Amino acid sequence: MDGSIGITLAPADGRDPGTLVRCADVAMYRAKQLSLGVAVYAPDADQNRRERLELLGGLRSAIAGGQLVLHYQPKVDLRTGRTTAVEALVRWQHPAHGLVEPGRFVPFAEQSNLVKPLTRRVLMLALDQARSWWDAGRLLPVAVNVSARMLHDAELISTVRAELDRTGLPPRALELELTESAVMVNTRNAMSVITRLRGEGIRISVDDFGTGYSSLAYLRDLPVHDLKIDKSFVVNVAHRTKDFSIVRSIIDLAHNLDLRVVAEGIESSEVCSLLRDLGCDEGQGFYLGHPVPPADLAA
Ligand code: C2E
Ligand code: MG
Ligand code: MG
Repeated sequence: MDGSIGITLAPADGRDPGTLVRCADVAMYRAKQLSLGVAVYAPDADQNRRERLELLGGLRSAIAGGQLVLHYQPKVDLRTGRTTAVEALVRWQHPAHGLVEPGRFVPFAEQSNLVKPLTRRVLMLALDQARSWWDAGRLLPVAVNVSARMLHDAELISTVRAELDRTGLPPRALELELTESAVMVNTRNAMSVITRLRGEGIRISVDDFGTGYSSLAYLRDLPVHDLKIDKSFVVNVAHRTKDFSIVRSIIDLAHNLDLRVVAEGIESSEVCSLLRDLGCDEGQGFYLGHPVPPADLAA
């Protein structure tokens, strides 16, 4: 059991019981969300929260109503320079707020029952896009990010299978990216879902590697193909010796475990050649290609 406390002050925050209790409630949710234990009501945070709630109130109908769009970012083989796959990154094309980045609504979907419809929608859009690329003779796999919550849901496997059947694509047309923390929570369950997905012939990566709390024992037993080094280690790898050591160690670790390594967040040619010299297999980042709408990807 755990408790969170929200504090409000009269008369600054209000004079009637209704207002004060509402403010205390808002503060309590903030305490919960940030794991603070205790929070004092802050009008600014409340304003943000109201705007957020307003935005997120429309998410369900946005998913159903086709307001989600996918941008695609290439993953490049650092030795040959060829694009090996593209990662699908979701955006919300909001009628009033413009293009909303995933950081502003995916975490919310993950905390609510919207994560399933969101994942389904993204899988559908990504595989439709892959279908049209494959029809045009571009046999590029698409990588889809899958939330932690989905990994503990056996329905994920049937959804993936149904989408592949619907589009008539082979399993190698799809890759799944799972964040490190997703894999590590409730490992036995996750392990069995990953094993079955891999059994279907789908390539699987651990995303944002280095930011979660990996147990090396799990990494040893996890039936994944790739590790993606988190961009926070990569962006400054050429100038920070500690980042350099971490990146080099992850590359060695991955290779010793027979995994391929992908570095995300490559923003310069300097970092790109440094990673190539360290033996990193693939890379992704603004230097190699920004996430773009599908129509711009060919160029
Ligand atoms: P991620 O899967 O680790 O995606 C990489 C993020 O890094 C993307 O941000 C991408 O635009 C950004 N990025 C790429 N190259 C560079 C670079 O060179 N430098 C820097 N600084 N950043 C770079 P984005 O598109 O905002 O996505 C953020 C996160 O949202 C993703 O992280 C992923 O965890 C999540 N996400 C995106 N689409 C989906 C989705 O369809 N489903 C789920 N569950 N999560 C998604
Ligand atoms: Mg990813
Ligand atoms: Mg990542």
